[in-house]
Amino acid sequence: MARIYLSAPDLAGTELAMVTDAIQSNWIAPLGPHVDAFEAEMCARLDVPYACALSSGTAALHLALLALGVGAGDHVWVSTLTFAATANAIAYVGAIPVFVDSDRASWNMDPQLFVTALEEAARTDTLPRAVIAVDLYGQCADLAPIADACHRHGVALIEDAAEALGATYRGRPAGSFGDLAILSFNGNKIITTSGGGMLVGRDKAHIERARYLATQARDPARHYEHSVIGYNYRLSNLLAAVGRAQLADLSRRVDARRTTNAYYREHLALPGWEFMPEASFGRTTAWLTCATIDPQRFGAGRDAVIDALAAADIEARPVWKPMHLQPVFRAHRSIGGAVAEDLFVRGICLPSGSSLTAADRARVVEVVRSVAPGSAR
Ligand SMILES: *Cc1c(COP(=O)(O)O)cnc(C)c1O
Repeated sequence: MARIYLSAPDLAGTELAMVTDAIQSNWIAPLGPHVDAFEAEMCARLDVPYACALSSGTAALHLALLALGVGAGDHVWVSTLTFAATANAIAYVGAIPVFVDSDRASWNMDPQLFVTALEEAARTDTLPRAVIAVDLYGQCADLAPIADACHRHGVALIEDAAEALGATYRGRPAGSFGDLAILSFNGNKIITTSGGGMLVGRDKAHIERARYLATQARDPARHYEHSVIGYNYRLSNLLAAVGRAQLADLSRRVDARRTTNAYYREHLALPGWEFMPEASFGRTTAWLTCATIDPQRFGAGRDAVIDALAAADIEARPVWKPMHLQPVFRAHRSIGGAVAEDLFVRGICLPSGSSLTAADRARVVEVVRSVAPGSAR
């Protein structure tokens, strides 16, 4: 039996034709018609006017901060329960991350905790320069109260929708909130270009600034003229061709992940096993299906379940380790943190890729049930 991965790349079937077109047209270069078309198609999907295709989601986060003018010594508030790339980008620009705890309703940035802390920061003149709200595991954060509070206090908002392409929040697409939003097309994400990302937004100046910085910051001149430090962050035309094929297949991919999620919910309705909730305000991509395990009631702990799955050649992982617990960020302030810590200690991510078969899902369920005494079929 083949190994079951957490989130394996999944081909749409049309990639080769698109890449062949890119090669035959001789656009083996960064930039080109597929890059332009990929950006335009993403804008149409997300209902945002501007986009810049980039070499990674991490590059998009870095440029989002630069485009918003975030720099050395500025404070940036960020969800603590996320992948390290979100917080690393803050360090790239010399800014100081401040971590915000999750709530149990969505596992995302706790909106009440956030708004209360921001009001307090406004009173004490310690407002952050920007906020990065993450849409965790494909589910949007409760973005309305977060965006309202940011707007009230003139704080820029970046939506990290790396895991949430295809999700919605109150009927609107993930990636269409905040001053800027970022997407990732890494190999394990909803769609992939093998590696890639995109910065999207409503302000033309932000996206133009990002495009300029991503292209070595070349000033208009016959010779090479540079007035600021630039980067080489653009997506190649070849990879954009792959991205277009994948984007056209987005709905099927989200549906496949949601089907897997529904299957797990039905077949793992076990005492002490609790799935990440789907909040009423949106529709998740179910990028990864996650759950927490109460070892007493389930009869085994999270690590025992991961070990049993590993022994059956099935990849499973703990939930992200919160940033405020990471050695590299330990010195930084955290607003709360106990909820994210608990989700990390007891949380598990199950195989969730859009190419997972019914037999794969059944195998995962069988192994999980075999660990819990009394719940094996
Ligand atoms: C994957 C991911 C990123 C980084 O994207 P890359 O394309 O891998 O650089 C950023 N934030 C979150 C939440 C992610 O899951």
